[in-house]
Amino acid sequence: MKTLKADIVVIGGGSTGVGVVRDVAMRGFSAILVDKGDLAQGTSGRYHGLLHSGGRYIASDPESATECAEENLILKRIHGGAVEDTGGLFVTTSIDSEEYADLFLERAAAAKVPAQEITPAEALRREPRLDPGLKRAFEVLDGTVDGWQMVWGAARSAMAYGAKILTHHRVTQILRDGEHVSAVVCHDERHGEDIRIDCAYVLNCGGPWAGRIAEMADCHGVEVVPGAGIMIAMNHRLSHTVINRCIWPADGDILVPVHPVCIIGTTDLRADDPDDLPILSDQVQQMLDAGEALIPGFRKARAIHAWAGARPLVKDSRVAATDTRHMARGMSVIDHAARDGVEGMLSIAGGKLTTYRLMAERIVDIMCERMGEERPCRTAEEVVPGSNEGTLYTIGHRLKDIEENGHAPGSEQMICECELITRSMLEKTMDLLPGDQLDDVRRQVRLGMGPCQGGFCSQRATGISHERGDISCERANGLLRLFLKNRWIGLWPILNGAQVRQAALDHWIHEGTLDVEHLPYADQEVTR
Ligand SMILES: Cc1cc2nc3c(=O)[nH]c(=O)nc-3n(C[C@H](O)[C@H](O)[C@H](O)COP(=O)(O)OP(=O)(O)OC[C@H]3O[C@@H](n4cnc5c(N)ncnc54)[C@H](O)[C@@H]3O)c2cc1C
Repeated sequence: MKTLKADIVVIGGGSTGVGVVRDVAMRGFSAILVDKGDLAQGTSGRYHGLLHSGGRYIASDPESATECAEENLILKRIHGGAVEDTGGLFVTTSIDSEEYADLFLERAAAAKVPAQEITPAEALRREPRLDPGLKRAFEVLDGTVDGWQMVWGAARSAMAYGAKILTHHRVTQILRDGEHVSAVVCHDERHGEDIRIDCAYVLNCGGPWAGRIAEMADCHGVEVVPGAGIMIAMNHRLSHTVINRCIWPADGDILVPVHPVCIIGTTDLRADDPDDLPILSDQVQQMLDAGEALIPGFRKARAIHAWAGARPLVKDSRVAATDTRHMARGMSVIDHAARDGVEGMLSIAGGKLTTYRLMAERIVDIMCERMGEERPCRTAEEVVPGSNEGTLYTIGHRLKDIEENGHAPGSEQMICECELITRSMLEKTMDLLPGDQLDDVRRQVRLGMGPCQGGFCSQRATGISHERGDISCERANGLLRLFLKNRWIGLWPILNGAQVRQAALDHWIHEGTLDVEHLPYADQEVTR
């Protein structure tokens, strides 16, 4: 078996894991991060897109609210290329009681979350589509964050400090030498081989899978409850800022504008398995109704994609195991030496994507203390590579890039019209991920994520990858089929109205031009 060696192995390449690997690498440890899939393919790529101001938690979880408020400012500074500083509003709609609004400013001040009341007329001037009967409005510092850009930014920073990132490496065993964790064994899903990584410490950042990973080291009963939520992307930005309903946290109470779309969400129900998160039609209707309460006419926009993620919530003895909405959003670090008598391993769960950097700082501080090392955290001080300080991530950034690079409009092949992906942008990504799945490419540049959901760009991108010699004809067929299959998972639950016509057109394009269903492909190509 191939063997590697590092001071630290980080398991899980979501926001928490990459935050941790960046932190340990910046403190001078040698580190390897492993993930069973691509980076941010778990919860960190299946979330709502909100860089919390803290306002959502001022009443239900003030400690998390304060953490979000502090981290919001740090992430805007260090991840300028992944964050859009949209600002946000909490609004009391015509159907809401003003009871929560009366508490809002007082609770926000207590949790140190900046907020101020503005008049309904001012709120409507800023957001003309809002419910014209809205009663109260509060301005907060919400933003939006592209999870994939953020996670890859942190990963690039870690790699610049010498860390290794191994995607598509599934951990299958955690080995012990007596009471001490000594190595991690993972299976390289792409090449079919096992790898052993000898290490001094394992940091388990497995999100909703963290309990299963702890089991591998014989640490039983770590209860990370998957709190499942669905979200729906609409085909336009229906608001300029993040719109929160000014009520106790509830389903469908936040609308987040992200890139050219906006996302309504979310639900919160206990799931049994983070790998099996169904999107039920009554939940879809509930989300669309919730959007309608904020923005009358919401349903006239087109729902283009739905997805679900599972919050890694740590079981709270004060709350029933089925009631994930009321479990605290705060982070928990579990020291397996104290809990299970297993030295050299810590697990972390809970928290938010907004607080990922702070979560990393906490767990690495604890590890350093256990190791007797004094190495201070520096992650808040350094901007991640590719995120120029103060650069806002706006919807027009790709057009600006094209113009700044001296390309006359129309001189570059446009591969995806919805998301303005040019051929050179796509090929630059393919250079970094030669032969990878189109979904890995999608997460980097948002291929197929706009209103047509890959109807036009998926065939073009597959053709380019094949033409470059990255993949064989059979693999190209398989990867195209896999990409379309994955897009379909998020399409069928919201097939209504105009989206049915779009899906029919896409189907005609794929079947009429390529007979996609009958393309020859090797079986294994569509499962990896
Ligand atoms: C519906 C929903 C909406 C949300 N909205 C927001 C929001 O708007 N703003 C916000 O700040 N937060 C939000 N959150 C919370 C946020 O998304 C999560 O707290 C955060 O993404 C968790 O990151 P993580 O790294 O801990 O977990 P994950 O991102 O799930 O990462 C865990 C990783 O472990 C890997 N893994 C699992 N098993 C193995 C194994 N055996 N071997 C190797 N790797 C393994 C997985 O592949 C995965 O990549 C939302 C969450 C949900 C579910």
